Amino acid sequence: MKYLHTFLAALFLLMGSEAMAQDASYPANYARAPRFKALIFYSDTAEPAHVDFAMQAIDFFKRLTYGDGFILETTTSVEGWSYERMKEFSVIININTAPGSAESRAIFEQYMENGGGWLGFHAAAYNARSTNWPWLNEFLGCGQFYCNNWPPQCVLVDLDVTDSPITRNIPEHFVAPESEWYQWNPSPRTNPDVEVLASLSAKNYPLGIKDVISSGDFPIVWRNRKYRMAYLNYGHGDREFTDATQNLLTLNAFRYVVSLDPNGDPFKK
Ligand code: ZN
Repeated sequence: MKYLHTFLAALFLLMGSEAMAQDASYPANYARAPRFKALIFYSDTAEPAHVDFAMQAIDFFKRLTYGDGFILETTTSVEGWSYERMKEFSVIININTAPGSAESRAIFEQYMENGGGWLGFHAAAYNARSTNWPWLNEFLGCGQFYCNNWPPQCVLVDLDVTDSPITRNIPEHFVAPESEWYQWNPSPRTNPDVEVLASLSAKNYPLGIKDVISSGDFPIVWRNRKYRMAYLNYGHGDREFTDATQNLLTLNAFRYVVSLDPNGDPFKK
């Protein structure tokens, strides 16, 4: 009898929430219809710390789809993709990999040159001479990869801009979780089309134990005004989603790129 009561109570609860889900005035129903599509393009064969980050990022972005606000797809390759297929996505979340062949690079360039959206993490922007893709430097608005600290470590971050949609609710100074941080030469700050939003504080120097960086301009979050893009330099290891401030920064950057979709801002009601 006791179990019957529990069963009935559970049933009524279920029916109640069902009824609520069908009530158009219920707030969760604002997002009943998925309004845009996002693609996570990542590598599952990169160094383990880069794959660890990708797996946790997939989980992070999947949680943002709760309520069906948007459709999230994932892929480890864009080889053979057509422009038509790529442009279905309001944003490509590019994690620790990049298009490899001339064909897939050309399609990605076409996508970005025609209003595509890009949120890049960490090695998605790796562009040493061997990468042999000059357009990537144009797109990122910086020179080639120059150096990194080792091992991964926490750092003090300073905001460069405090009123951007990406940073306006972020503390002006915060400590970010441990990561491998990249420096570029020349720095993206020297590019007039680039807005640097956050940098590693010079107070971090000397940064690293094995590989030590002792100086240099160190932007870690920026956007290139010529494209609908934002780049976040973190993305190494399994500690990146342990900090609410950095998670908020990630969310902000994602929303920022999607909000500029040429088809309209899906977050505006
Ligand atoms: Zn790394």
